[in-house]
This record gives sequence, C-alpha cells and structure tokens, in this order.
Amino acid sequence: MAKSKFEYVRLFEAEDRCLPNTWIVVRVDGKGFHKFSTEHGYEKPNDIKALSLMNRAATSVMEEFKDMCLAYGQSDEYSFVFRKETQAYSRRSAKLSTNVCSLFTSAFVYYWNEYFPTSKPRYPPVFDGRTVLYPSNQNIRDYLSWRQADCHINNLYNTTFWALILKGGLTPTEAENKLKGTLSGDKNEILFSQFAINYNTEPEMLRKGTVLVRRKVPVVLPNGGTREKSQIVQEHVDIIGDEFWNTNTHLLTF
Ligand code: ATP
Ligand code: ATP
Ligand code: MG
Ligand code: MG
Ligand code: MG
Ligand code: MG
Repeated sequence: MAKSKFEYVRLFEAEDRCLPNTWIVVRVDGKGFHKFSTEHGYEKPNDIKALSLMNRAATSVMEEFKDMCLAYGQSDEYSFVFRKETQAYSRRSAKLSTNVCSLFTSAFVYYWNEYFPTSKPRYPPVFDGRTVLYPSNQNIRDYLSWRQADCHINNLYNTTFWALILKGGLTPTEAENKLKGTLSGDKNEILFSQFAINYNTEPEMLRKGTVLVRRKVPVVLPNGGTREKSQIVQEHVDIIGDEFWNTNTHLLTF
C-alpha cells in the first residue's frame, strides 16, 4: 500500500525496547484500592475472596503470556516475571505493561461474579502498570523478596490494627496511636496477649502472598491412564530464603 503523506508522524513514537538478556517485571497495582475495598465491602484486614479474584486474574495473564515464568501477588498488586530472553512484543516496554495490565484488569472484572456472586462492581476498577528491568539473578530475587517483605510488614500491621478495632473496641485513630513506633515483636505480643492470636498460624496466603508457577501435574485421561500436563499452580510459600530457589532451579537458569 502506498504511504500517505501523514505517515511521518510515526517517527514521533519513542523507542522503548527493554535491554536484552534482562529480567522484565511488570507490576500492576490497584488504583485507590483503600477506597475500592471499603466501597465493595472487603472484609478487613483481609478479604479472601478478593485475594482469590486477584489470583484468578493473574492466572489468566500467565495463561496468555507463555514467557512468564513466575508471578507474585499480595494485597492489590501483582508482579509478573518474564524470562530474560523473552521476545514478546519485541520487548517493547509499553506494549508489555499495557497488555499485561489491560488483561489483568479485564479478567478481574470478568471473573468478579465468581467471587462476589451477589454484587456487581460499583464502578470500573483501575490498575496501573509499570515495567522494571533487573539485570542479575540476585536483583530479581531481591525484587521478589522486597515485595514479600512488604506483604509481611503490612499484613502484621493490618492484622493488629483491625484486631484492636474489631475485637478491642478502639477507634481507628486510637489503634493507629497505639501502634505508632511499635516493632514486629510488639505487634506479635499485642495479638497474642490481648486477642489470643498467634500470628504464625494465620493463613499462609495472608502472611506470604501468592506465587504462581508452572508445574507438571498428572491428569487422568478418559481411558483411565494419566498424562503430565503443565499447569499454573498457586503456592503460599517463603520466596526470600534459598529453599524455594534451590527446589526450583529451573526458574533462574535456562
Ligand atoms: P494507590 O492508588 O496509590 O495504589 P491504594 O489505596 O490502592 O492507593 P495501596 O498502597 O495500593 O493503596 O494499598 C491497597 C489497599 O487496598 C490496602 O491498604 C487495603 O486497604 C486494600 N486492600 C487490598 N486488597 C485487600 C483485601 N484483599 N482485603 C482487604 N483490603 C484490601
Ligand atoms: P494487533 O493485536 O496487532 O492490534 P488486530 O487484529 O487487533 O492485531 P488491528 O490492526 O488493530 O489488528 O485491526 C483491528 C481489526 O479488528 C480490524 O482489522 C477489524 O478486522 C477488526 N475490527 C475492529 N473494530 C471493528 C468493528 N467495529 N467492526 C468490525 N471489525 C472490527
Ligand atoms: Mg500506593
Ligand atoms: Mg493500590
Ligand atoms: Mg498496593
Ligand atoms: Mg489491534
């Protein structure tokens, strides 16, 4: 087709290819989910249905992008890790982040009803998305450790904060003041002595977040035999220490 005289405007588009041979992370995060969670009656401090919906939406993303080796989610965020050598969208940063973010958001709405059968979203939820590059295996591990540590710190705080309000009868301001300047040990102690909650026995999904990885799982065939099939599975495990990486060496080596 002949080029129109307008064609030159394409040259205004900025080049945004990600550096080769580098881990690509796309992280999405809900916009204003403090408000969204309140307006949609999320249970505090943690609504399991909402977290499960996040995990469902993230699974849709991993089903679509075969070059993703791992995803990690907590609260209103999800991080998706592309293999270092992925050529998806020619590694164009905006293409990657917008496609991931858009699919995640539409899947979140698409599957809403399976987790909240009696209500509709009161307004269209929004997620932002960004692409970040990590050159070394240590960097990508530290990135994921950073997100899981964030999950732990926030969850311990929120669990204590809401126990003080819902079980201790404090106002949000009183609870906030009580927790000002406290360390992890102090919060564990408040939970245990005042509310008989052992933080370490709280559900793993809340304390550790969710890791999505592909695993070969046996599926039963119609003839009764079994076959191995790659499936995306959810795990709520520590990814800061070495154990997860030692038992999943395929994730960091190709
Ligand atoms: P921003 O637009 O800057 O991201 P935000 O209000 O989304 O603002 P975040 O720091 O992303 O703030 O925090 C997300 C908030 O959403 C949490 O603090 C919590 O109040 C709420 N939230 C997210 N997931 C859940 C959940 N499963 N159960 C209860 N509350 C949740
Ligand atoms: P890519 O993912 O590269 O964008 P694409 O299939 O979306 O691939 P486009 O160049 O964006 O390709 O073209 C969009 C196509 O969607 C059109 O060629 C047309 O076939 C179809 N389409 C979009 N809107 C309509 C519409 N309103 N009615 C009928 N067909 C439509
Ligand atoms: Mg924020
Ligand atoms: Mg948010
Ligand atoms: Mg967040
Ligand atoms: Mg198109």
